Amino acid sequence: MALRMSTLFLRTLREDPADAELPGHKLLVRAGYIRRVAPGIYTWLPLGMQVLGKVEAIVREEMNRIGSQEVKFPALLPREPYDATGRWTEYGDNLFRLKDRKDADMLLGPTHEEMFCLTVKDLYSSYKDLPLALFQIQNKYRDEARPRAGILRGREFIMKDSYSFDVDRAGLQKSYDAHREAYIRIFNRFGFEYVIVKADSGAMGGSASEEFLAVSPHGEDTFVRDESGYAANVEAVEIAQAPEVEVTAGPAHVEPTPDTPTIETLVAALNKDHPRADGREWTAADTLKNVIVMLVHPDGTREPLAIGLPGDREVDAKRLEVKVAPAEVEAFEEKDFASYPMLAKGYIGPGVLGEEKASKIRYLLDPSVAVGSAWVTGADEHGKHVIDLVHGRDFTADGTIQAAEIREGDASPTGHGTLKLARGIEMGHIFQLGTKYAEALGLKVLDENGKLVTVTMGSYGVGVTRAVGAIAEDNLDDIGLIWPRNVAPADVHVVATGKDESVFVKAEEIVRELEAAGVEVLFDDRRKVSPGVKFKDSELIGVPTIVVIGRGLADGKVEIKDRRSGDRREIAVDDVVAEVT
Ligand code: ATP
Ligand code: MG
Ligand code: MG
Ligand code: MG
Repeated sequence: MALRMSTLFLRTLREDPADAELPGHKLLVRAGYIRRVAPGIYTWLPLGMQVLGKVEAIVREEMNRIGSQEVKFPALLPREPYDATGRWTEYGDNLFRLKDRKDADMLLGPTHEEMFCLTVKDLYSSYKDLPLALFQIQNKYRDEARPRAGILRGREFIMKDSYSFDVDRAGLQKSYDAHREAYIRIFNRFGFEYVIVKADSGAMGGSASEEFLAVSPHGEDTFVRDESGYAANVEAVEIAQAPEVEVTAGPAHVEPTPDTPTIETLVAALNKDHPRADGREWTAADTLKNVIVMLVHPDGTREPLAIGLPGDREVDAKRLEVKVAPAEVEAFEEKDFASYPMLAKGYIGPGVLGEEKASKIRYLLDPSVAVGSAWVTGADEHGKHVIDLVHGRDFTADGTIQAAEIREGDASPTGHGTLKLARGIEMGHIFQLGTKYAEALGLKVLDENGKLVTVTMGSYGVGVTRAVGAIAEDNLDDIGLIWPRNVAPADVHVVATGKDESVFVKAEEIVRELEAAGVEVLFDDRRKVSPGVKFKDSELIGVPTIVVIGRGLADGKVEIKDRRSGDRREIAVDDVVAEVT
């Protein structure tokens, strides 16, 4: 059934909403797609529901295509499962918490690994039941520190989340690959430019995870890419393939020698010369956490060493000095070092350090601890945009932090040209969870030999409401939105103009024919609205094809307009259906 402007619940606005910064957000509000309730909380109006429905349908189709089955979990959840995995605490202020009348702790789900895991545990017990993939399209709740651009970063938002369950890693890899393919099809259908970036670093031992970023100057993520199609989140460029960089201290780069220190040589040196008080062996991860390594040059100058970056500088392994920093430094967590590879590469990301971390940095600057040089990594108040700091470059001895800067133009790790920096909006995230959740919640099945094995999981998310926002930001001009047909609120906007009743009668007929041909129509059948207002509204709303039925009808002509190019042509009234199908 055509959407009729005469009855549609819609008021277009001439003025930009006061709280909107991004152009797409402004237009979504002005054109009557969404309406703000509170920061990061939006109502979907009928036009918005049309677009949302299209986006959801694309996601649903592609999930069904890979055999994932749709379910729907509640958003209102008990605390216990999230306690079992530690996330009740880990989520901190981002979690919406509430109490029921019996004073029991509840939460509004920010993501559902726990619940899916438990439900599969409830129902399945054998390897014969697997593999299994489930998904839902459902409201999520996160009390984001900075809700942004309306629906791009909401506090209530819709996510498609899916979860895969396999008996072993090979199965997980298959499920992961299937989701990756499905995501490629989904984002191709959304019609925006996107890149797939590695989202974590092999160096930190993270499991495989990739993000789908819509390329956009409005994005909050920064990534690098080269001409070959290689792309990586700035937090995750692999140090193993790091390009050679020249350093100012010491000679220009030389080939790595067997003596070039790596994280392994460092760990070995630590275990030999600096045994831990608690008797445990040093691991790579706690080495990064607790150790400041000074490189001593032949002339006696010292500089902090970027570990594990072979080939970029000449070093004498025998003169490696290792300093074990005092216990306070252990307060840094592994995630604080997620961008360690970027430090090794000399990149740094933008961000603002929290007060606590900043004071620790000042502590590290104590000359008796770090000989005036240190490297540290911190996270901003969102726990992301992780930044790396190098003494002398990013901060000075009095602890002043200088504006961080990311370097473009370094050689690409693939050997294909140089790296370019760009911004992106995270649209999707696919993740090999492994057994983390299954272990915490006891999801095990009997394998072929009757032995209990822990199930291996993957989790996969698409920001459904965010996709609507990102598509809008990428498809607009000065006068309104310009939807790609795949997700437009209708295929054709039929505008009947003038006072002549026969125009409206003919327009009704055309609309019926279009619908019979499977074309979705937004029909401006308003009688008392001027043609000027109708044209403005059609431009603002952004249906890709506009058919104007008016005076020309007397000569058997209507006008057909392409919203994106602005091209307009007169066509014979009998050709309308053929033209738009
Ligand atoms: P971000 O880095 O933008 O905060 P995230 O990494 O926290 O996102 P995930 O937990 O990976 O998000 O969730 C899967 C997907 O859900 C994201 O890729 C994104 O598209 C979407 N999403 C996450 N947070 C929001 C939000 N606050 N509003 C709208 N969509 C969101
Ligand atoms: Mg987030
Ligand atoms: Mg993210
Ligand atoms: Mg993510």
